[in-house]
Amino acid sequence: MNKIQMVDLKSQYNKIKPQIDEAILNVVESTSFINGPEVKEFQTSLEKYLDVKHVIPCANGTDALQIAMMALDLQPGDEIITSDFTFAATVEVIALLKLTPVLVDVYPDTFNINIEAVKKAITPKTKAIVPVHLFGQCADMEPILNLAKEHNLYVIEDNAQAIGAVYTFSDGTKKKAGTMGSICTTSFFPSKNLGCYGDGGAIFTNNDVLAQKTRSIANHGMAQRYYYDRLGVNSRLDSIQAAILNVKLPLLNSYCDARRKAATYYNNAFANHPKIITPITSDFSTHVFHQYTLRIINSERNALHQYLLEHQIPNAIYYPVPLHSQKAYGNLHYKEDNFKTTNELVKTVISLPMHTEFEEEQLQYITQTVLSFFKN
Ligand SMILES: *Cc1c(COP(=O)(O)O)cnc(C)c1O
Repeated sequence: MNKIQMVDLKSQYNKIKPQIDEAILNVVESTSFINGPEVKEFQTSLEKYLDVKHVIPCANGTDALQIAMMALDLQPGDEIITSDFTFAATVEVIALLKLTPVLVDVYPDTFNINIEAVKKAITPKTKAIVPVHLFGQCADMEPILNLAKEHNLYVIEDNAQAIGAVYTFSDGTKKKAGTMGSICTTSFFPSKNLGCYGDGGAIFTNNDVLAQKTRSIANHGMAQRYYYDRLGVNSRLDSIQAAILNVKLPLLNSYCDARRKAATYYNNAFANHPKIITPITSDFSTHVFHQYTLRIINSERNALHQYLLEHQIPNAIYYPVPLHSQKAYGNLHYKEDNFKTTNELVKTVISLPMHTEFEEEQLQYITQTVLSFFKN
């Protein structure tokens, strides 16, 4: 059995090594390191894959969020509602732009933003909702989009973790994660479901005006060469990263399937266990398992975390502290009562190894080790 990794990028690379090596070498030979034809090719392929009008590649998923919020002309003091249980980038960018993050609770079973909590948090200052499609499945977009319409709010989807997931509306319409909001963002960080070999990110939108603005902001606010219409940033996807993504995008669906297969293996092994709650897949969204996250009841989570490490099984606590309790983002106005679920989740969640390259023997070892912990 090969050593178990949280994310096995090496085995994945080994399977596509000739194509990846050639793609990288082509860029090196061409010396078009910035804005080479690979970037445009990737943009077009991703637009087609997602069925979205515009993809604007940029340097990473955090920049993508920042650029998206800049493109919406949000003003200091505007309130942006987002999830208390997510990677910090989402709220960091809101705060950096001097907007006011308003954190809300999530659902315990999907880990995604709680619609009732969003409703309660809306004030006259609210300008946008940022649902994060956490761990690989979509937040419940239909009620979010309805709320946004009713209150005239933007919806910014943070799709760093769910590229490839599909949402089904009540009338049966299906849309890919990241194509439903006003503007959407993703990350190609190596361990993401569509990862490059360094940093990368993108913004998606179906709105032509927003797309043009976004593209300009990502390029120093330039309208035409050396004419600056607005404040911008420098945020580009390198040609080498785009070339790697061009090899990997056609494999994304098979990667999603491989992750689902591993998740099913885990689910079956842990089914009906009295102390383990397995992740659910909602009726309205497919799941692409960026993370496979269990909830462990009876305060045994930390002991399980240690036990697995002792047995050479990497595992992680995503996330150990809710954002509303972080020094950087805490706010005296938050009432602990409003965060019952996130306060509980940080104590109970544990994410097991999840990637595209498992050997059955590894999954067997991981599940048996988890189960043996509870037998002791
Ligand atoms: C990874 C991630 C980001 C940031 O992406 P980077 O490319 O690392 O900047 C933002 N939001 C979420 C939910 C993420 O998981």
